[in-house]
Amino acid sequence: MTAPYDVAVIGAGAAGMMCAAVAGQRGLRVVLIDHAERLAEKIRISGGGRCNFTNLGAGPANFLSDNPHFCRSALAGYTPQDFLALLREHRIAWHEKHRGQLFCDDSSESIIDMLRAECQSGKVQWRMPCRVTEISRSEAGYQLRTNQGDIRAEKLVVATGGMAIPQLGATDFGLKVARQFGLKVIEPRPALVPLTFDPVQWQPFAELSGVALEVSLATGAGRARGEFLEDLLFTHRGLSGPAILQISSFWRPGDEIVIDLAAGRDLAAELIAAKPGNRQQLHTVLGGLWPRRLADQWLRAAGQTGQGDLAELRLADAPDKALRTLADGIHRWRLVPSGTAGYKKAEVMRGGVDTRGLDQKSMQARTVPGLYFIGEAVDVTGWLGGYNFQWAWASGAACGRAL
Ligand SMILES: Cc1cc2nc3c(=O)[nH]c(=O)nc-3n(C[C@H](O)[C@H](O)[C@H](O)COP(=O)(O)OP(=O)(O)OC[C@H]3O[C@@H](n4cnc5c(N)ncnc54)[C@H](O)[C@@H]3O)c2cc1C
Repeated sequence: MTAPYDVAVIGAGAAGMMCAAVAGQRGLRVVLIDHAERLAEKIRISGGGRCNFTNLGAGPANFLSDNPHFCRSALAGYTPQDFLALLREHRIAWHEKHRGQLFCDDSSESIIDMLRAECQSGKVQWRMPCRVTEISRSEAGYQLRTNQGDIRAEKLVVATGGMAIPQLGATDFGLKVARQFGLKVIEPRPALVPLTFDPVQWQPFAELSGVALEVSLATGAGRARGEFLEDLLFTHRGLSGPAILQISSFWRPGDEIVIDLAAGRDLAAELIAAKPGNRQQLHTVLGGLWPRRLADQWLRAAGQTGQGDLAELRLADAPDKALRTLADGIHRWRLVPSGTAGYKKAEVMRGGVDTRGLDQKSMQARTVPGLYFIGEAVDVTGWLGGYNFQWAWASGAACGRAL
């Protein structure tokens, strides 16, 4: 018996809508299923409501995966320029913020409306809100048991995203389906997420909450090393801001992160050069070169760790060695986070369906004909800056064309 649908797509987020629209416009009979009350909440809240929908420089080097070459084909087959062409058709205005990050001029709602319209022109059928409780496979295809009755389709695309922000309906559904059909899963963990510290260790820095500055920072080694130049934000519990979100995707429990709090400068040379005849106290001088609250706190903490009361010293009287030690500590601040703020605060999930089990052109499971995984559910995680949406569009389009 032929199934009433060629394709069922579970998950009407970024990747699922793109895939459904592309497949529908090719003439396939597509049903798109989502359990949420509101469509595409993650697109809606992304980029502070303006959706950082791609990055002009997006390429394989901007993604983390256990199998780093997997994403090449899909990214090459659907580029940021392809997405911009779609925006042009729908007359959606956009701008570049910085470092190739593109945002809507108005609201992220326009991206949702565009994808909905693209699905409409592919005659995609919707089931939403609809909960899938069971999936089985037979010769005829896939049978989904749902709270709206059974749905049968020849092929099944899983586009249910990652586990970040469970309060918006994020689940591990995709990983469960992968395991049900014998696919491997790379251990998932929160990524693009603030890092937290032991409250006692953090106590001297807690009062710096709100201080922001550009830093360079690094963690990991070899292929797993991450290194970025971005803005850092002190919070009550630890560190956040783009610098930390970026590095968090590379960080593993127990690893150290090294932060250069005066990136691109040579503080020791600056302080030593300013010394001759300088009667100002060190905290005044440092406060002129660096955020003042940070300078005061840093010198106070240095005093508490037996480096003497540097803060009160006049610069002219400060030994070069003490200034070099001070500068070295600022350029190489070594910290071991105690953890992350978790999925509640994460922007994405790292890990997911092991790409070694998927075909890179179609996203189809190698051992399960007719079963496909796309978007964030797959072990491909982008940096901060529009890369995750680009992966959602590219993997969705690759799959939609191959179905
Ligand atoms: C706060 C925040 C801001 C972000 N900002 C950006 C940004 O500016 N730029 C960027 O590139 N990325 C951003 N991201 C990441 C980006 O939103 C995701 O990587 C992207 O949405 C992934 O697309 P997806 O289609 O795979 O998953 P999603 O867009 O998450 O869609 C998955 C869909 O599946 C549905 N679903 C889940 N479980 C089930 C189930 N059991 N049954 C049925 N349906 C289910 C969900 O309701 C959802 O609609 C942000 C993420 C967050 C949390």
